[in-house]
Amino acid sequence: MAELIDGKKVAEEVLAECVQEIAELKERGIVPGLAVVLVGEDPASQVYVNSKARKCGELGIYSEKIVLAEDSTQEEVLATVRRLNEDPAIHGILVQSPPPPQINEEEIVRAIDPAKDVDGFHPENVAKLALEDPSGFVPCTPAGCMRLIKAAGVETSGAEAVVVGRSMIVGKPMALLLMARGSDATVTVAHSRTRDLAAVCRRADLLVAAVGIPEFIQADFIKEGATVIDVGINRVEDASTKRGYRLCGDVAYEEVAAKAGAITPVPGGVGPMTIAMLMKNTIKAARGAS
Ligand code: NAD
Repeated sequence: MAELIDGKKVAEEVLAECVQEIAELKERGIVPGLAVVLVGEDPASQVYVNSKARKCGELGIYSEKIVLAEDSTQEEVLATVRRLNEDPAIHGILVQSPPPPQINEEEIVRAIDPAKDVDGFHPENVAKLALEDPSGFVPCTPAGCMRLIKAAGVETSGAEAVVVGRSMIVGKPMALLLMARGSDATVTVAHSRTRDLAAVCRRADLLVAAVGIPEFIQADFIKEGATVIDVGINRVEDASTKRGYRLCGDVAYEEVAAKAGAITPVPGGVGPMTIAMLMKNTIKAARGAS
């Protein structure tokens, strides 16, 4: 049975570091500030935005939650971003994804000051990640996965790593982090057009699943003893629960855990790490502004 990689515990360690770092900044008269912009009323986005603001409150990071109407125009969202770019109390800005369909998300991301882009989605930060320039911001979810992999004591150097998914938010930055100097994995990126995905995945000493399909990765995708990082967060209907749904990952947990060497659970794996790394990025932005 696989060892459980406890994301909650590792996230607590990251947050304890944050507490220390925030105290040091406050001694220098700097209070880190994060602005979270939500356009519209998507229920999942509301949950994410509230939990980010709550975590800021717990740590003593100043936060502003800005909720714009569902029918906001592109210009209104851009004006909000530009105002936040100029606000000295705000060091980090994120616009919760996905915005309503009339909003061009790419243009919004490009409007964020790269020095305040704590999501790490601005082209300047994407380039810095590819260039291995540590002054950039790394997207929070893959950064959290890397921290989990390190905490679990997994050797990445020379390891065969397979990342399933090529999104700009998870898959692509994850692949860059794994192949970077210091991680030194041999990386394969698989996606919806990959032939014989199970065989590709079976090569992996380290498998990262970021697909968005519930329990997609099954036991026959897994090499005996592999480390499995499940990024997926999916709601599946479940009448037996109070909410009418349960959360599950992209990995069929029970059968994969029986074969893997180590695995992250959902919930309690990558999820808590994402928000912890957002706090880290906000602190980094505040340091950079001083
Ligand atoms: P996405 O939809 O942008 O990308 C999914 C990727 O999976 C695509 O690159 C696609 O090529 C690939 N894919 C789709 N079908 C496939 C198939 N049949 N075979 C192989 N590859 C296939 O999703 P995303 O934003 O990268 O998110 C992926 C998952 O991670 C989702 O479940 C999302 O909810 C979750 N997520 C979790 C966190 C977190 O904090 N834990 C953060 C971001 C995303």
